[in-house]
Amino acid sequence: MGNVQELIRTAIERLRAAGSESPRLDAELLLAHAIGTDRTVIVAHPEATVSDGAAARFEEGLARRAAGEPVAYIRGFKEFYGLAFAADKRALIPRPETERLVELAEAAVVRRLAGAPRPHGTPPVRIADVGTGGGTIAVSLAVALRRRGIGDDVEIIGIDDDPEALALARENAVGHAVADRVRFIEADLLPPVVATPYDLVLANLPYVPSDAIPGLPVAASFEPRAALDGGPDGLAVIARLVTRLPEALVPDGLALLEIGSDQSEAVVGLVRRELPDWTCEVELDLAGQPRVARIVRA
Ligand code: GLN
Repeated sequence: MGNVQELIRTAIERLRAAGSESPRLDAELLLAHAIGTDRTVIVAHPEATVSDGAAARFEEGLARRAAGEPVAYIRGFKEFYGLAFAADKRALIPRPETERLVELAEAAVVRRLAGAPRPHGTPPVRIADVGTGGGTIAVSLAVALRRRGIGDDVEIIGIDDDPEALALARENAVGHAVADRVRFIEADLLPPVVATPYDLVLANLPYVPSDAIPGLPVAASFEPRAALDGGPDGLAVIARLVTRLPEALVPDGLALLEIGSDQSEAVVGLVRRELPDWTCEVELDLAGQPRVARIVRA
């Protein structure tokens, strides 16, 4: 039996030596997980004794993390937009920078609903989350809109070409009680024919340039490559979606696309080339980095 402080201290050494970028945070999260408590309890009680069972579970998690596996896969979930999302190798782990996209989407929906009268029978605001992966954007937006009492005024569709990711997305929708509000469909970006265009197209598509993938933290090598690899310049998949925006969006529709912090100019250029009569502005994320391309018809 050891106490919290001793276990954390040796774990930090071990994880640092193994190349973790955040050894203390990892150790605290994994010990809390092994004990079945919160990280705050670990921080508040360094003197507490850890049972042999919990210590053994901690050791198991540490070994996995030391081998490079992301903490979110070891715990089986990741916090995002105030919610806990089931996370495993079927999909990309939710990233904090994507919260900015959800925030902007939430504001856009509110603006749309508030901006015009909505007599009974007005069709819902239609929202597509393209490349939904584990359903992070679609589900967190559905939960946020339900909290605002406007969940019934929207229709959210999560789209992915990977059935495994969609299974995880459905689990997350069920877990957050929005399975009746978010529909998931299997398609490559969008359905071959968009029968009814969307008011909002949201997407966190892969945007890492192929040759930058080996330079990502080891943890990323546990995630599906297709969720990260954006081709030679990182914008191959985003470009395919951009060319489909004219058919995918209603005339005053809005696309919010997550991009890499160094891709602002490239994505503005891409939109200018592919959609000359549209505009593209880039919004910053919570860390002050360029992150979300906002694309509309001029
Ligand atoms: N922001 C992610 C990273 O950690 C990339 C996610 C993506 O390609 N959509 O590299």
